[in-house]
This record gives sequence, C-alpha cells and structure tokens, in this order.
Amino acid sequence: MTAANLMNTYTPLPMSFVRGEGASLWDAAGRRYLDAMGGVAVTCVGHCHPQVVEAIRDQAGLVLHTSNHYAIDWQRQLAGKLAALSGLDAAFFNNSGAEANETALKLARLTAWHRGIERPRIVVMEDAFHGRTLATLAASDCSGVRLGFGAHADDFLRVPFGDIHALNAIAQRYGAQVVAVLLEPVQGESGVRPAPPGYLRAVRALCDRQCWLMMLDEVQTGLGRTGHWFAYAEAGIVPDVLTLAKGLANGVPIGACLARSRTAQLLTPGSHGSTFGGNPLACRVACEVLDIIQRQHLVSHARQLGAWLLGTLQSRLAGNPAVREVRGQGLMIGIELSHAAGGLAQRAAERGLLLNVTRGTVIRLLPALTLTEDEASQVVEHLVALLAPASAVA
Ligand SMILES: *Cc1c(COP(=O)(O)O)cnc(C)c1O
Repeated sequence: MTAANLMNTYTPLPMSFVRGEGASLWDAAGRRYLDAMGGVAVTCVGHCHPQVVEAIRDQAGLVLHTSNHYAIDWQRQLAGKLAALSGLDAAFFNNSGAEANETALKLARLTAWHRGIERPRIVVMEDAFHGRTLATLAASDCSGVRLGFGAHADDFLRVPFGDIHALNAIAQRYGAQVVAVLLEPVQGESGVRPAPPGYLRAVRALCDRQCWLMMLDEVQTGLGRTGHWFAYAEAGIVPDVLTLAKGLANGVPIGACLARSRTAQLLTPGSHGSTFGGNPLACRVACEVLDIIQRQHLVSHARQLGAWLLGTLQSRLAGNPAVREVRGQGLMIGIELSHAAGGLAQRAAERGLLLNVTRGTVIRLLPALTLTEDEASQVVEHLVALLAPASAVA
C-alpha cells in the first residue's frame, strides 16, 4: 500500500501495528515493540485496557451519538468528575486539544467583550504549542508551524517561557488591555521544558493582581502524566481555565475546556457548540479512564516511576557526549541531544523501542502511566545502547 492519496503531513516510520496490550504493540509479523511514546501521550492507561475495551463494546451496542440537543448522562458524569478533580467548576467538551484551546481563547475574548476592552490581547509564550487551527496556530511558536498560513498573531503578545519579569513588563505596558495568559506548565512539543520552580505561582499572583485569566493548556501534561492529576497541583494553584485532551479517553477523540467561577458561566445557549463533542461513547470511556487512573493509583505510580526513570537516565547517560540534558516531570521525559537525532526514532523502533523525537534534538518519552518497573528498565537499557558513543550519530 502506498500513501499516494494522503496529504503529505507526516513522515511515518514503516512499522505498522495490528494489536496492542499495555505498553506493548505488535506488528503483522508478530514482532513485539515496547511503546514509550503512547501515541503521543494518548494511551495513558495502556493499549486495550480491559475496562476501556468493555466500555467501548458495551456503549457501541447501546448508543453512540444523540447530539447535544438531548441530555447526555455520561457527559454530566464526566463533567462532575473533572470538576471534582481539578477544582474548576464547569466543562465544555469537544474532540481535540486544539478545539479545547479554541474554547479557552473564545472565553478570553468573551471576557474582554464583557469588560469593554476594545483591542484585547492574550499573552502567550515563546516556543508554545497549542494546536493547528488558525487561532491556536497563532498562539503557537514552535518549529515554524505558523509558516505560510498567515495566522493573524496580532491578538497575542509573546514572552519568553519561565521569565516572570517579561510578564511583569507586559503588565506595565499593556495592563488592562490584556485579558488572559495562556501557557503549558511543561512545554511538550518544544522539547519537554518544565516551567522553572515558582513560575506558575508567580503567574497566578500576577493574574490575580491584574484581573487576567490564567489559562493552562494541560492537553499533554494533564491526567497524571506529570505525577499529579494536573501539573498545576504541584504549584498549589488553580487556573481560571484548563484544557485537556490527549489521554482523556485513551484514544477515543475528546477534548475538554474547564473554567472556574464567572468564566464558567460566560457561554450561553447558541454561543458555542460541537456536533460530536461530549457524545456518550467518548464521555463514558473518559469516565472509565479516570476511574482506572484512580483505582490503579496511576498518579502516584507515574510520580514514583517517573522519578526513578529520570534519575536512572540522568546517571546512566551522565558524561555521554551525545546527551546535553535529561529533564522532565513524572512520565513525561525529554533527553536533549547535542546533535540532531537523525534516524534515531527508526533505529530505536528497529530494536523494538518506540519513542518520539521532537524539535529534531529531543527524545521524548510519553509511555502509558501503567508502565511497569521492568518495562521502564528495558527503556533505559535500549536508550543507553542507542546512545552509546559507538552507535551515536555524529
Ligand atoms: C497535542 C497538543 C495540542 C493539540 O492537540 P490536538 O488534539 O492535536 O488538537 C495542544 N496543546 C498541547 C500542549 C499539546 O500537547
């Protein structure tokens, strides 16, 4: 089979998988691969978790879709669970991370409109990634994603990520023209870059002083990935707006935008919507995923195993000239190389390890939160071998 009829947006490796279980995938020839990529942070409770499989099977035999013109019980349940876990008040569901961020941006604009701000600005970060729709693209700043699309970035003010002085300078200069700050607690696509300690707290305090909405994009970091239900929990803060997607239904498409207090009441009938958003299948599976994360204690597991994996990689790769830095939070780990990774993802896959390379130089590990200690050791051994000076790319 060729890809002649596909638009050329990805350059996939030749491997193709027909079956999965936990952190393992198998190709048609029966060869097993250890999946340290998790479909880019999506399959967070592992491939084919029995409870997820059962929920999909059962719901498919009941009803898939009825539209938001009727009450959807699973949607209400999911909103309730997410509100309780996050500390925010209300959710809107759609089908992807970009759409969740679109909702967040619309909440910011609506807030500005109610306040009578004529030319509202939203502060975003250098090297951010928020999605591929025109508005989220304009908010992004990663690997030339905007190039050629004329995405109108005029609504946005951009500051260096992690630099609270730059944000203070924006407050001085633009003050009440700013309505919101949008950021990722750990920048994912631009190379697994955690915010410096104290930064999220400082942003929260500045937003409170300035009456700006603090909007966190936790599409990649949310739901246990960083060893906390949400990355902001570690900072002891709560954002005004929170976006989720990737792992929420373990591969069934869903996105969510949550908001707090007055911001949670801005949308009114007709002001926003989504045909597929919040359908019974996606919401039921997401409820199951949250249940599994809770029952199997995957948040603390991600924190503990992630700390072990990070520490072990740091010590085993110390002094390796191919490695510049190993960093991360929980089971979101980046290994920044001193040179372009070249065919590293392919060479890793050939030896049975699936990993992602982002920004050309950063190996990104986003395994299922169910990864076992034994599998984590296998990941380490693979990586140490792959990055051994003899086999490293020049
Ligand atoms: C993946 C990602 C998105 C985009 O999500 P899609 O589902 O691809 O639209 C947005 N923000 C962050 C932080 C992401 O990692």
